[in-house]
Amino acid sequence: MLDAKLVIRSHSEQKTVVKLSEQVTVGGQELLVIGGPCSVESLVQMEVVAEHLATAPVQALRGGVYKPRTSPYAFQGLGLEGLEILTAVRQRYNMPVVTEVMAVSQIAAIATAADVLQVGSRNMQNFELLKALGQCDKPVLLKRGLSATLEEFILAAEYILSHGNPQVVLCERGIRSFDPYTRNVLDLGAVAALKQLTHLPVIVDPSHAVGKRELVADLARAAVACGADGLIIECHPQPEQSVSDARQALSLAEMVTLVHSLGAIAAAVGRSLPRINIPSLAVPSTVCG
Ligand code: PEP
Ligand code: MN
Repeated sequence: MLDAKLVIRSHSEQKTVVKLSEQVTVGGQELLVIGGPCSVESLVQMEVVAEHLATAPVQALRGGVYKPRTSPYAFQGLGLEGLEILTAVRQRYNMPVVTEVMAVSQIAAIATAADVLQVGSRNMQNFELLKALGQCDKPVLLKRGLSATLEEFILAAEYILSHGNPQVVLCERGIRSFDPYTRNVLDLGAVAALKQLTHLPVIVDPSHAVGKRELVADLARAAVACGADGLIIECHPQPEQSVSDARQALSLAEMVTLVHSLGAIAAAVGRSLPRINIPSLAVPSTVCG
């Protein structure tokens, strides 16, 4: 492994804590939980999500506005309109937001509207994008490629660090295998290995790993048990109506129940669930009244 100099852990105590906002970090003792829909669909949708998740407690919101869809005819995301929605919700709820960046040309606008730029699986080896994100001053959530080896994954992170940005969070989201019953196969061995090999925070996305909502909670708990620093989970006010990845979306109530179920497992591995810490929570104009 090679050619990686900056990502590889030099001693067993070395670990990087990445700051998403003044209050929210990942890589320390506290688990990071990120929740939200696959795609941003409307302001009301994101307000309802934030309202329910803020006290779960979920510390950060997700929502794609530039969507890497298999079919060019499928919903491609709201684009700039979606970024405006993220800006509004992030301010109103004082919650950092994570959204995907697909092209170098999108970086400036996304870095203004969001707190963390996600590189999706399909772009893990888009080296020009990785280099440009190395010059960005926002944290990057780097998802493992669909069939990427750990060496390829680590070297993709190395691109970002070696171009100047040390704030990288690795995300295991399942790899392709032969059985279509689950969407992908969650590689928990990779989580354990990445924690040993690198000093970067490692989080798990059980939603894309398994692809079926009824299996998401079990994988989320397994990820925490095996040492993940956090989770990113898809949930939606009306899961069946989700414009993308409906089959894997949890309801907001299921998401809250899942977060509560993590406490005992977190404690067993020396971690804790996030504290509720939302000093400037305001009443959303479009949800109440
Ligand atoms: C997503 O987070 O919605 C997404 C497209 O994820 P991945 O890149 O892991 O498929
Ligand atoms: Mn998705």
